[in-house]
Amino acid sequence: MKKTRQKTMKTETNARQLMRDDHSTLWHPFTQMQEWISEPPLIIKKGKGVYLWDIEGKKYLDGNSSIWVNLHGHQKKEITMAIEHQLKAIAHSTFLGLSNIPAIQLAKKLIEIAPKGLSRVFYSDNGSTAVEIALKMAYQFWQHQGGAFQKKKKFLTLYNAYHGDTIGTMSVGGISLFQDLFRPLFYPVYKIESPYCYRCPLTLAWPDCQIACLESMEKVLTNHHEEIAAILMEPGIQAAGGMIVLPPGYLKRVKALSRRYGVLLILDEVATGFGRTGKMFASEHEGVSPDLMAVAKGLTGGYLPLAATLATEEIFEAFSGPYDSFKTFFHGHSYTGNQLGCAAAIANLEIFEKEETLKELQSKIGLLKNLLEPFNRLDLVGDVRQTGFIGVVELVKNKKTGESFPLKDKMGIKVCLEARNRGLLIRPLGNILVLIPPLSSSGIQIKKMVTILRESIETISKGIR
Ligand SMILES: *Cc1c(COP(=O)(O)O)cnc(C)c1O
Repeated sequence: MKKTRQKTMKTETNARQLMRDDHSTLWHPFTQMQEWISEPPLIIKKGKGVYLWDIEGKKYLDGNSSIWVNLHGHQKKEITMAIEHQLKAIAHSTFLGLSNIPAIQLAKKLIEIAPKGLSRVFYSDNGSTAVEIALKMAYQFWQHQGGAFQKKKKFLTLYNAYHGDTIGTMSVGGISLFQDLFRPLFYPVYKIESPYCYRCPLTLAWPDCQIACLESMEKVLTNHHEEIAAILMEPGIQAAGGMIVLPPGYLKRVKALSRRYGVLLILDEVATGFGRTGKMFASEHEGVSPDLMAVAKGLTGGYLPLAATLATEEIFEAFSGPYDSFKTFFHGHSYTGNQLGCAAAIANLEIFEKEETLKELQSKIGLLKNLLEPFNRLDLVGDVRQTGFIGVVELVKNKKTGESFPLKDKMGIKVCLEARNRGLLIRPLGNILVLIPPLSSSGIQIKKMVTILRESIETISKGIR
């Protein structure tokens, strides 16, 4: 009895100490630290399946898959074992001048499942870097073509796009809140409207919105294709830019434009890759193969930081030549091809085969759709949208006009805090609520997540009436 009490007391002191230390030493991503420091931090101690536990023992549903990375749940036996097994051989050796077993095996697997035509794998360790590598490859590709092709030095991207937080990927991003301050540091990029048909930038109704957005892309290509190296976009859904589901057919038409005007197509599958949209890659929905593809987030099932940029043989070939042609792709990172990450990724892909993850997922996608449909009737909800296993609820101040809440009202944050108190962890994008459960979530768990989300919206809704 006495012993238990002592133990509890010790844990409590530890918890308080950890919280103090967090507040005094850390700087969290995308976080206003003044606000962070005014509240006790939620510190995670453990995860199992779709659940996370904090240091005080409170249990939560991981409703955003630990920021869109987790696929098969936490403490997934096969992935844990693969990492342990690899650890007994070696954790890491450099990929510069050396190769390693799991990196080779994973590359082979990735090419097998990747869209047709992608045949080369270049590793890195996060999504921003994987995209930046694709940009550098596209740029250098044209330099190697010589002549007038060397004028192809620019990229065409979409507003509301998110490709990462490095200067290079912010330049091609389209989220002013994150990026405007840094604009003087960016290289010039052609940006066109994205078909966010709920809030059509050209105030057109579906399907005119999509047609007009494609026309504006074509206009830029007509006038500037000679200086454009590649079109870069997120297939299927613009994720961090507001979970904007792209209209069906859009990607296919972009691909056609890229061929017609002789520019490369780079697809950023960092958020959408590995089953998230119901197929292994989002581009599969439209049968589109890009010239370059970036993957990261789900690649290791949410276990370790690993990313890859896949290229076609045509792009790869353009870099080959004698040593002193200096056509080398001069790029690499200390942890390129990390063995632990690659071992985790192989295990992740094996689970897809063994458990038929994608097949199992289809009915869960349907369930999520049915459960989210009634949200349309809620006062504060302007739009409900979904692609695959991503459910999106956009909060509005005025349901009729679609008027948004000002960001300072923190509506999204308020709903998510309410959800957290009820045992569901999610993170808003402004007024946009996002449910991205691990693919392994059961029907009951999905129902529970959606119920908490609805109750949280209703509670906040009552508070402002
Ligand atoms: C998250 C994300 C990135 C950046 O990946 P990091 O690993 O966070 O650097 C790039 N593109 C898309 C589409 C993403 O969702």
